[in-house]
Amino acid sequence: MTAQPGSELSGRELATQIRATTAARAAELAAAGRPPRLAVVTATDDEASASYVRSIASAAARVGVACDVLRTSTANGISATLAQLADDPEVQGVILQTPLPDGAGLADLATAIPPEKDVDGASPASLGRLAAGLPAFPPATAEAVLALLDHYQVELRGRHAVVVGRSVVVGKPAAHLLLDRHATVTICHSRTPDLPAITRQADVLVVATGRASLIGPEHVSPGTTVVDVGTNATPDGLAGDVHPAVAAVAAALTPVPGGVGPVTTALLLRHVVEATAMAG
Ligand code: NDP
Repeated sequence: MTAQPGSELSGRELATQIRATTAARAAELAAAGRPPRLAVVTATDDEASASYVRSIASAAARVGVACDVLRTSTANGISATLAQLADDPEVQGVILQTPLPDGAGLADLATAIPPEKDVDGASPASLGRLAAGLPAFPPATAEAVLALLDHYQVELRGRHAVVVGRSVVVGKPAAHLLLDRHATVTICHSRTPDLPAITRQADVLVVATGRASLIGPEHVSPGTTVVDVGTNATPDGLAGDVHPAVAAVAAALTPVPGGVGPVTTALLLRHVVEATAMAG
């Protein structure tokens, strides 16, 4: 499918396609006595997080991936649970849900997830492998950005991709994936002076800041394809990091909700099935 000027790059059709192939592969593995199984470790009462975990569990059920949600409340509890899961041959995929208990760091705790089970690319080993061009599961959100751009046949080779946000879970891995596809990549963050001057140079603009409507029409040039990763709870409902008025300027824009989000969940489950297949 090709992006048309001013078009909305919905993720729903792509997510449906990914779910269909994932369900077929999961059924084959289950028939061969190797049912795919995901474990989600969570240590928070945060309602947004709980809702995300429920959505993963129900999406998993729909594609035939078993999903266990394991609750604990401390960093030690997380470490002990992850250590058990690392050795459990029945579990092929492990996710550590954020937010974490005060003082606990995702990268630190996620070192306990072996790369072959790290289906959301959370451990430093996975990010390091990604940066080194070695096989690894990328964080599903970062991969979803690339999957959407590919789905709409957005050219990356030799184009200028600007990523706003440098988190370990989205911005940095997205930048690595864009670089692997021969884009010229600029990463911006909260200390970048004159953000609009840089983002206006983008052929492809990826925004992952967690700041609702940070990017306005003044940040975007005609011809730019914009991928909005942000999911922000506002009094008016879920909002992206990109103001809706950008649609009038940009060549194409992903919607929130319905853009990166559904593709992310679909890819996460595909990773679990791939991990099961590779577990042999
Ligand atoms: P983080 O808070 O970890 O990182 C935010 C990044 O944005 C930081 O690098 C920060 O810069 C940068 N930033 C913040 N404010 C500005 C600003 N004014 N100008 C430029 N850069 C800025 O967030 P995440 O990466 O975890 O998530 C980003 C967004 O993506 C959130 O809305 C989150 O909900 C969403 N998300 C969506 C997913 C999906 O499936 N759709 C999955 C995961 C996340 P600095 O480093 O300098 O602080």
